[in-house]
Amino acid sequence: MNGTVPSMQFALVNGERSRPKKGLRGHCQYCDGEMVAKCGPYIVWHWAHMPGSNCDPWWGPESEWHRGWKNLFPEDWQEIVHFDERTGEKHIADVKTPHGLVIEFQNSPMSFEELASREAFYQEMIWIVNGDGGSLNPNYFNLGLMWEGAISFRPLVRYVKWMSRSRLLHKWSAATTPVYIDFGFQGMWRFFDFRLEDDVGAFSPLDQNWLIEACLLGESIPIAYVSEEDEEEYISRLRSNHLDENDDMSQ
Ligand SMILES: [Zn+2]
Repeated sequence: MNGTVPSMQFALVNGERSRPKKGLRGHCQYCDGEMVAKCGPYIVWHWAHMPGSNCDPWWGPESEWHRGWKNLFPEDWQEIVHFDERTGEKHIADVKTPHGLVIEFQNSPMSFEELASREAFYQEMIWIVNGDGGSLNPNYFNLGLMWEGAISFRPLVRYVKWMSRSRLLHKWSAATTPVYIDFGFQGMWRFFDFRLEDDVGAFSPLDQNWLIEACLLGESIPIAYVSEEDEEEYISRLRSNHLDENDDMSQ
Protein backbone atom coordinates (compact mmCIF):
# COMPACT_ATOMS: atom_id res chain seq x y z
CA MET A 1 0.00 0.00 0.00
CA ASN A 2 1.24 3.50 -0.72
CA GLY A 3 0.91 4.76 2.84
CA THR A 4 -1.45 7.63 2.06
CA VAL A 5 -4.88 7.73 3.59
CA PRO A 6 -7.25 8.45 0.72
CA SER A 7 -9.54 11.46 0.76
CA MET A 8 -12.75 11.64 -1.22
CA GLN A 9 -15.41 13.97 -2.44
CA PHE A 10 -18.28 11.65 -1.52
CA ALA A 11 -19.11 9.49 1.49
CA LEU A 12 -22.27 7.67 2.49
CA VAL A 13 -24.35 9.50 5.11
CA ASN A 14 -27.46 7.51 6.05
CA GLY A 15 -26.95 5.53 2.86
CA GLU A 16 -26.83 8.61 0.58
CA ARG A 17 -23.77 9.83 -1.32
CA SER A 18 -22.99 13.21 0.24
CA ARG A 19 -20.43 15.95 -0.17
CA PRO A 20 -18.50 17.05 2.94
CA LYS A 21 -20.18 19.51 5.31
CA LYS A 22 -18.81 20.84 8.57
CA GLY A 23 -19.22 18.36 11.42
CA LEU A 24 -20.59 15.59 9.20
CA ARG A 25 -19.54 11.96 9.62
CA GLY A 26 -20.09 9.17 7.14
CA HIS A 27 -18.82 5.91 5.74
CA CYS A 28 -16.60 5.13 2.78
CA GLN A 29 -18.53 3.66 -0.14
CA TYR A 30 -15.54 1.44 -0.93
CA CYS A 31 -14.27 0.06 2.40
CA ASP A 32 -17.12 1.07 4.72
CA GLY A 33 -14.56 2.75 7.00
CA GLU A 34 -15.63 5.74 9.08
CA MET A 35 -15.00 9.12 7.45
CA VAL A 36 -14.92 12.65 8.78
CA ALA A 37 -15.75 15.74 6.74
CA LYS A 38 -12.77 18.11 6.57
CA CYS A 39 -13.91 21.63 5.80
CA GLY A 40 -11.97 24.84 6.20
CA PRO A 41 -11.19 28.10 4.46
CA TYR A 42 -7.76 27.04 3.19
CA ILE A 43 -8.31 23.44 2.15
CA VAL A 44 -10.16 21.62 -0.61
CA TRP A 45 -13.18 20.24 1.32
CA HIS A 46 -13.04 16.49 1.46
CA TRP A 47 -13.86 13.35 3.38
CA ALA A 48 -10.97 11.79 5.29
CA HIS A 49 -10.54 8.24 6.56
CA MET A 50 -9.43 7.54 10.11
CA PRO A 51 -5.67 7.04 10.47
CA GLY A 52 -4.53 3.51 9.65
CA SER A 53 -7.59 2.62 7.61
CA ASN A 54 -7.16 0.25 4.71
CA CYS A 55 -8.91 1.58 1.62
CA ASP A 56 -8.35 1.30 -2.15
CA PRO A 57 -4.56 1.22 -2.67
CA TRP A 58 -5.03 2.95 -6.06
CA TRP A 59 -6.65 5.97 -4.47
CA GLY A 60 -4.54 8.83 -3.16
CA PRO A 61 -4.89 12.43 -2.06
CA GLU A 62 -6.38 14.70 -4.72
CA SER A 63 -5.19 18.02 -6.07
CA GLU A 64 -7.38 20.92 -7.13
CA TRP A 65 -6.53 20.06 -10.73
CA HIS A 66 -7.95 16.58 -10.13
CA ARG A 67 -11.11 17.92 -8.49
CA GLY A 68 -11.59 20.56 -11.18
CA TRP A 69 -11.62 17.91 -13.89
CA LYS A 70 -13.89 15.53 -12.01
CA ASN A 71 -16.41 18.28 -11.44
CA LEU A 72 -16.79 18.83 -15.18
CA PHE A 73 -18.84 15.61 -15.10
CA PRO A 74 -22.17 14.90 -13.36
CA GLU A 75 -21.89 14.13 -9.63
CA ASP A 76 -23.34 10.66 -9.88
CA TRP A 77 -20.63 9.68 -12.39
CA GLN A 78 -17.82 10.57 -9.95
CA GLU A 79 -16.04 8.22 -7.53
CA ILE A 80 -17.79 5.10 -8.73
CA VAL A 81 -16.92 1.71 -7.28
CA HIS A 82 -16.16 -0.57 -10.23
CA PHE A 83 -16.53 -4.26 -9.48
CA ASP A 84 -15.16 -7.17 -11.52
CA GLU A 85 -17.64 -10.02 -11.05
CA ARG A 86 -15.20 -12.65 -12.32
CA THR A 87 -12.39 -11.89 -9.88
CA GLY A 88 -14.19 -10.07 -7.07
CA GLU A 89 -11.67 -7.22 -7.42
CA LYS A 90 -12.99 -3.69 -6.92
CA HIS A 91 -11.62 -0.16 -7.23
CA ILE A 92 -12.94 3.39 -7.24
CA ALA A 93 -12.97 5.05 -10.66
CA ASP A 94 -12.54 8.85 -10.78
CA VAL A 95 -15.36 9.06 -13.31
CA LYS A 96 -17.41 6.29 -14.85
CA THR A 97 -19.92 7.30 -17.50
CA PRO A 98 -23.25 5.48 -17.96
CA HIS A 99 -21.83 4.55 -21.39
CA GLY A 100 -19.24 2.41 -19.63
CA LEU A 101 -16.13 4.56 -20.09
CA VAL A 102 -13.83 5.04 -17.09
CA ILE A 103 -11.85 8.32 -16.95
CA GLU A 104 -8.83 8.39 -14.67
CA PHE A 105 -7.14 11.70 -13.85
CA GLN A 106 -3.50 11.44 -12.99
CA ASN A 107 -1.62 14.26 -11.33
CA SER A 108 1.41 12.35 -10.09
CA PRO A 109 3.55 9.58 -11.55
CA MET A 110 2.72 5.94 -10.89
CA SER A 111 4.59 2.67 -11.46
CA PHE A 112 4.46 0.69 -14.72
CA GLU A 113 2.86 -2.16 -12.78
CA GLU A 114 0.05 0.02 -11.49
CA LEU A 115 -0.51 1.55 -14.93
CA ALA A 116 -0.87 -1.91 -16.47
CA SER A 117 -3.09 -3.21 -13.64
CA ARG A 118 -5.49 -0.29 -13.91
CA GLU A 119 -5.79 -0.68 -17.67
CA ALA A 120 -6.39 -4.42 -17.32
CA PHE A 121 -9.00 -3.83 -14.63
CA TYR A 122 -11.02 -1.02 -16.26
CA GLN A 123 -10.40 -1.99 -19.93
CA GLU A 124 -12.64 0.67 -21.45
CA MET A 125 -10.85 3.75 -20.16
CA ILE A 126 -8.88 6.90 -20.95
CA TRP A 127 -6.20 8.71 -18.98
CA ILE A 128 -6.11 12.47 -18.48
CA VAL A 129 -2.70 13.50 -17.24
CA ASN A 130 -1.64 16.80 -15.71
CA GLY A 131 1.17 18.04 -17.95
CA ASP A 132 1.27 21.59 -16.65
CA GLY A 133 4.71 22.23 -15.23
CA GLY A 134 3.40 24.48 -12.47
CA SER A 135 5.60 24.97 -9.44
CA LEU A 136 3.84 22.32 -7.36
CA ASN A 137 3.55 19.71 -10.06
CA PRO A 138 6.05 16.87 -9.61
CA ASN A 139 5.94 16.08 -13.34
CA TYR A 140 7.73 19.23 -14.52
CA PHE A 141 6.32 18.29 -17.86
CA ASN A 142 6.90 21.50 -19.73
CA LEU A 143 10.61 21.60 -19.04
CA GLY A 144 12.55 20.93 -22.17
CA LEU A 145 9.59 20.27 -24.39
CA MET A 146 10.05 21.57 -27.94
CA TRP A 147 6.98 21.82 -30.14
CA GLU A 148 8.16 20.98 -33.63
CA GLY A 149 6.30 20.86 -36.93
CA ALA A 150 3.33 18.80 -37.99
CA ILE A 151 3.79 15.18 -39.07
CA SER A 152 0.36 15.17 -40.66
CA PHE A 153 -2.57 17.57 -40.95
CA ARG A 154 -5.44 15.11 -41.49
CA PRO A 155 -5.43 14.14 -38.67
CA LEU A 156 -3.29 16.86 -37.17
CA VAL A 157 -0.32 15.30 -35.40
CA ARG A 158 2.70 17.23 -34.23
CA TYR A 159 6.19 16.09 -33.64
CA VAL A 160 7.65 16.89 -30.21
CA LYS A 161 11.26 16.80 -29.13
CA TRP A 162 12.06 16.27 -25.50
CA MET A 163 15.23 18.02 -24.36
CA SER A 164 15.62 16.91 -20.75
CA ARG A 165 14.28 14.25 -18.39
CA SER A 166 11.57 12.29 -20.16
CA ARG A 167 10.68 9.92 -17.34
CA LEU A 168 7.00 10.74 -17.56
CA LEU A 169 6.73 10.20 -21.31
CA HIS A 170 8.58 6.91 -20.91
CA LYS A 171 5.89 5.90 -18.49
CA TRP A 172 2.93 6.99 -20.58
CA SER A 173 4.33 5.40 -23.71
CA ALA A 174 3.62 2.09 -21.96
CA ALA A 175 -0.11 2.87 -21.83
CA THR A 176 -2.35 0.75 -24.04
CA THR A 177 -5.44 2.97 -23.61
CA PRO A 178 -5.68 6.59 -24.87
CA VAL A 179 -3.68 9.21 -22.96
CA TYR A 180 -4.65 12.90 -23.04
CA ILE A 181 -2.27 15.42 -21.56
CA ASP A 182 -3.54 18.68 -20.13
CA PHE A 183 -0.70 21.14 -20.71
CA GLY A 184 -2.56 24.02 -19.05
CA PHE A 185 -1.92 27.14 -21.09
CA GLN A 186 -0.54 24.98 -23.93
CA GLY A 187 -3.89 23.22 -24.34
CA MET A 188 -4.95 19.58 -24.45
CA TRP A 189 -3.02 17.03 -26.47
CA ARG A 190 -3.60 13.40 -27.22
CA PHE A 191 -0.35 11.55 -26.71
CA PHE A 192 0.31 9.02 -29.47
CA ASP A 193 3.83 7.83 -29.38
CA PHE A 194 7.22 8.25 -27.79
CA ARG A 195 10.53 6.86 -29.02
CA LEU A 196 12.91 6.28 -26.16
CA GLU A 197 16.05 6.18 -28.38
CA ASP A 198 15.81 9.77 -29.57
CA ASP A 199 13.30 11.34 -27.15
CA VAL A 200 10.81 12.16 -29.88
CA GLY A 201 7.05 11.95 -29.49
CA ALA A 202 3.86 12.52 -31.46
CA PHE A 203 0.88 14.50 -30.15
CA SER A 204 -2.42 15.66 -31.55
CA PRO A 205 -4.12 18.83 -30.23
CA LEU A 206 -7.76 18.85 -29.29
CA ASP A 207 -10.36 21.08 -27.78
CA GLN A 208 -11.09 20.20 -24.16
CA ASN A 209 -14.79 20.75 -24.89
CA TRP A 210 -14.79 18.04 -27.55
CA LEU A 211 -13.39 15.58 -25.09
CA ILE A 212 -15.94 16.43 -22.40
CA GLU A 213 -18.85 16.46 -24.82
CA ALA A 214 -17.88 13.14 -26.40
CA CYS A 215 -17.62 11.53 -22.95
CA LEU A 216 -21.00 12.97 -21.93
CA LEU A 217 -22.65 11.63 -25.08
CA GLY A 218 -20.80 8.29 -25.12
CA GLU A 219 -19.22 9.05 -28.50
CA SER A 220 -15.63 8.58 -29.60
CA ILE A 221 -13.35 11.52 -28.87
CA PRO A 222 -12.63 13.44 -32.10
CA ILE A 223 -9.22 14.17 -33.54
CA ALA A 224 -8.41 17.50 -35.25
CA TYR A 225 -8.36 17.72 -39.05
CA VAL A 226 -6.95 20.96 -40.44
CA SER A 227 -5.31 22.39 -43.54
CA GLU A 228 -1.62 23.24 -43.52
CA GLU A 229 -2.30 27.01 -43.88
CA ASP A 230 -4.66 27.06 -40.91
CA GLU A 231 -2.59 24.99 -38.52
CA GLU A 232 -0.90 27.72 -36.43
CA GLU A 233 -4.06 29.75 -36.02
CA TYR A 234 -5.98 26.63 -35.21
CA ILE A 235 -3.63 25.60 -32.41
CA SER A 236 -3.54 29.05 -30.84
CA ARG A 237 -7.35 29.09 -30.86
CA LEU A 238 -7.46 25.72 -29.07
CA ARG A 239 -5.03 27.06 -26.48
CA SER A 240 -7.08 30.16 -25.76
CA ASN A 241 -10.28 28.05 -25.53
CA HIS A 242 -8.56 25.93 -22.96
CA LEU A 243 -7.57 28.97 -20.91
CA ASP A 244 -11.21 30.07 -20.82
CA GLU A 245 -12.18 26.62 -19.62
CA ASN A 246 -9.70 26.73 -16.78
CA ASP A 247 -11.02 30.11 -15.70
CA ASP A 248 -14.50 28.61 -15.53
CA MET A 249 -13.26 25.61 -13.57
CA SER A 250 -11.92 27.72 -10.72
CA GLN A 251 -15.16 29.62 -10.16
ZN1 LIG B 1 -12.37 3.68 2.19
